[in-house]
Amino acid sequence: MDRQPIIIAHRGASGYLPEHTLEAKALAYAMGADFIEQDIVLTADDVPIVVHDIHLDTVTDVSKVFPDRCRADGRFYAADLTLSEVKQLRVIERIHHNTQHPVFPQRFPVGASRFEVATLAEEIELIQGLNKSTGRSIGIYPEIKNPKWHRVQEKDISRIVLNLLSDYGYRRSSDNVYLQCFDPRETQRICCDLKSELKLIQLIGENSWGGGDVDYEDFRTQAGLQKIAAFACGIGPHLGHVVSGKVHGELVITDLVSTAHRCSLEVHPYTFRADDLPEYATSLDDLLEIFLEKIGVEGVFTDFPDRAAKFLMDSMS
Ligand code: CA
Repeated sequence: MDRQPIIIAHRGASGYLPEHTLEAKALAYAMGADFIEQDIVLTADDVPIVVHDIHLDTVTDVSKVFPDRCRADGRFYAADLTLSEVKQLRVIERIHHNTQHPVFPQRFPVGASRFEVATLAEEIELIQGLNKSTGRSIGIYPEIKNPKWHRVQEKDISRIVLNLLSDYGYRRSSDNVYLQCFDPRETQRICCDLKSELKLIQLIGENSWGGGDVDYEDFRTQAGLQKIAAFACGIGPHLGHVVSGKVHGELVITDLVSTAHRCSLEVHPYTFRADDLPEYATSLDDLLEIFLEKIGVEGVFTDFPDRAAKFLMDSMS
């Protein structure tokens, strides 16, 4: 690739501020991200909001504000609250559902300050507004979350999100947006049935991560990647799909990236975190060097966009 790799701010500058808050997005913008990520779910009144999960209980105080609104499984769902109810919640640094302990203890203090859940429209207006006031051109990188689950709630999340993106001027492959999804049937539907021209990224998970009805191992083969190339311009694999570890001091690099490149697919792996490194990497810089210089991926999802920007700046000088 002759183009500079892109830095995708994973849930914003989430290494520093609670994920998916507008504050985390503004910080990511200032830190030099090329794209800023939005995970999207729908409220009861079908408003796209920017949160990672269909549940709200690991990133907000929903269990205190609406204690009687959980389902039989004890979880609180965005789809059960209207936007005006969601707006009464405080966003907190992510905690584990079972233990209530912070997922990343070194990060922003849980419950400090005051943050709210943003709608997708609010976030796009923030990024487009900053593009206007700074003269830069930073892109968005929305993810359609759990389309199948939304369909069970009688919600067509992809159609709603595509309409909103279109309203804000994101319609064509040349527009500054990548749209991503873990469900290959939905990514294909977005391309083939909903006729979206946006650049699409097929995320690659592990078969063991639940859902259980998508065979990601099949999608990581040459034949699987060729299928993806018919509707997407790239893949978003887990770090472990690209480097499986270190044996006798040597990195074990899979053939996923080279095969994807043969299928003309870009590769944007997730997630580059300074505080959650794979065993084989000695530092975030070391990990970035392996993926950006040794392997040559086209983009990185990172919680620390400043660190990736500095790495790229240093490697150019
Ligand atoms: Ca995501």
